[in-house]
Amino acid sequence: MSWEVVIGIEIHVQLRTERKLFCANRVAFGDAPNTHVCPVCLGLPGALPTLNPEAVRLALRTALAVECTVHERSVWARKNYFYPDLPKGYQITQFEEPLATDGRVVFDVDGAERSVRIRRIHMEEDAGKLVHDRFPGVSAVDLNRAGTPLVEIVTEPDLRSPAQTRAFLAALKQILEYVDVSDCNMEEGSLRADANVSLRPSGSETLGTKTEIKNVNSFSGIERALEIEIERQRGVLEAGGSIDQQTLLWDDHRGAVRPMRSKEESHDYRYFPDPDLPTLRITPDTVARARSALPELPRARRARFVTEHGLSEYDAGVLTQTAATAGYFEAVAGGIADAKTAANWVMGPVLALMNERKEDATGFAVGAPRLVALLTLLREGVVSDGAAKKVLGLLATEDADPREIVEREGLVQVRDTGQLDAWVAEVMEANPDEVQRYRDGETRILGFLMGRVMAASRGKADPRQVNELLRSALES
Ligand code: ADP
Ligand code: MG
Repeated sequence: MSWEVVIGIEIHVQLRTERKLFCANRVAFGDAPNTHVCPVCLGLPGALPTLNPEAVRLALRTALAVECTVHERSVWARKNYFYPDLPKGYQITQFEEPLATDGRVVFDVDGAERSVRIRRIHMEEDAGKLVHDRFPGVSAVDLNRAGTPLVEIVTEPDLRSPAQTRAFLAALKQILEYVDVSDCNMEEGSLRADANVSLRPSGSETLGTKTEIKNVNSFSGIERALEIEIERQRGVLEAGGSIDQQTLLWDDHRGAVRPMRSKEESHDYRYFPDPDLPTLRITPDTVARARSALPELPRARRARFVTEHGLSEYDAGVLTQTAATAGYFEAVAGGIADAKTAANWVMGPVLALMNERKEDATGFAVGAPRLVALLTLLREGVVSDGAAKKVLGLLATEDADPREIVEREGLVQVRDTGQLDAWVAEVMEANPDEVQRYRDGETRILGFLMGRVMAASRGKADPRQVNELLRSALES
């Protein structure tokens, strides 16, 4: 029997706010434990929450970036459960009336376009963290993270393979980065994805029983975890068994899933509207303003790079990988009025240098104006291509003007025909055999002689001119 894989994803995104969702404590990763807490996020009796409008603004941006309908009213709810990292005994979230619904993300996988529907996006607060490795024999609680604003994005079960899932998550992360709502750092937990997966006989319309995989902290981990879980389910089903609906934990070291709990039902949580918080109201006007404040999104920008700058799909994809790279490229392309040269330089030596220096386009040591100045010298023939690459490296380490460096390093290209002729003559005199071979028809030898002339000029001669002068000298 052949099986169809069905996958739906729930993604928690930590919003990049300065302060927590319902109190004024800072959101800070890696600080000393329990230094960003107060009666509200400690859940002390009588402490009341106050909504952080910045979190709402970022959640709204997120919803619009994935084409959701934002609701004029949404309702805060208490999700009741006990765990030591949750001091109130409930999490404030949204349940029956979420912030936004019915969106979609379009992405490419293996050259084909796919689309995943977004079922809903709601806001909620994060819990604290248990620390198991700090004190021997006991676990400790750090509540710095408690009350950090999150959005949860829930997809419809529209994904059909682990590879598609990975591509979808990469596309979603790219969108979130473009609209600048989150750090999207999976290792630090600011982006956490849980994968729901089931199998059904090919052609069947009804969904099979699913399991949910948690605790995966990389995209490759999700792909691997899904592949392993799909094989496990296939084995059970082909042996005539049935799947237990349960939550599984991914163990990255062992490369295996293990059961965490049998899946709870939502009614177990006794959700009810939070009496401490008024209904969240977002006017159509606020939505319209948020929509018009959205930047151009990755796919639109990539398409525009193809039509407006004449780039290939591939180049446009590389250059729009991050909004910062795309902005850098456009600044350079505009500055030299030559998109092809800008694309070649940014995708080649510039990205290589950024990687080497562990910088991104935002913090890159060679700002677009200085690259423009350098590429202008290249276009004017003042420097050769090789020399320009050398200058780029120097620009990264000192805050100088490209022309200064070119002159100081003696990299100005020699185009004076008198000087070039002298080098050509010198090389021909020193290599009479090669000259004779050329004249006897072995034209390949030209490359060797070119090399000698370039060496004589210590790399400074304009190679195009040398080529012409040498050829005419040999043929006369
Ligand atoms: P639960 O109530 O168990 O959380 P939901 O219906 O809320 O389940 O769905 C949670 C996530 O699981 C969604 O992303 C959804 O697309 C996905 N999902 C639901 N049913 C299935 C299924 N049978 N197979 C795979 N994914 C599923
Ligand atoms: Mg759920």
